[in-house]
Amino acid sequence: MSYSLHPAIDNGIKAGQSDFPGGKLTCHCSSDKVEITIEGNVLHNHACGCSKCWKPANALFSIVGVTPKDNLKVTANESKLQIVDESAAIQRHACSKCGVHLFGRIVQDHPFKGLDFVHTELSDKAGWQEPQFAAFVSSIIEQGFPPDKASEVRDRFHKLGLETYDALSPPLMDAIATYNAKKSGKLPA
Ligand SMILES: [Zn+2]
Ligand SMILES: [Zn+2]
Repeated sequence: MSYSLHPAIDNGIKAGQSDFPGGKLTCHCSSDKVEITIEGNVLHNHACGCSKCWKPANALFSIVGVTPKDNLKVTANESKLQIVDESAAIQRHACSKCGVHLFGRIVQDHPFKGLDFVHTELSDKAGWQEPQFAAFVSSIIEQGFPPDKASEVRDRFHKLGLETYDALSPPLMDAIATYNAKKSGKLPA
């Protein structure tokens, strides 16, 4: 059984540049592309196996990173954007013509409020932060991937040098738990 984890990493991972200035991401339309411009590099870039993140056709995983929302501007054809699911914690803004997700924004009270989720493969520049880990690996089974092949997927990530998790990475899970503990009063705010 052959499958693509994601075309950007199937043949190895290339490290990004720490001083990368950022750049433009565009949708897949042949004309009137929706364009966003990001100042600076992304953070926490990772492969995600959940069913909500946008991924290219035939890829098992999405590759998604975050940027502070103030570093992101829609710079062309904003009128083509629509929100995929208004009720979701992450408001994913997709091109209404080609379906590509340009950015996901958190507007409700949330540990990651203030961060936008973006896919750097939509840029034609190299230097974006390389994926750091794989998240929500077990979720691919919910989307129909054979469960007996899940360990093979994890092995492929390990060979690429990426740790695999079935939620987010420990630092991000700790950040969420800290936020929740402060909110509930278990930790001082
Ligand atoms: Zn488009
Ligand atoms: Zn995801």
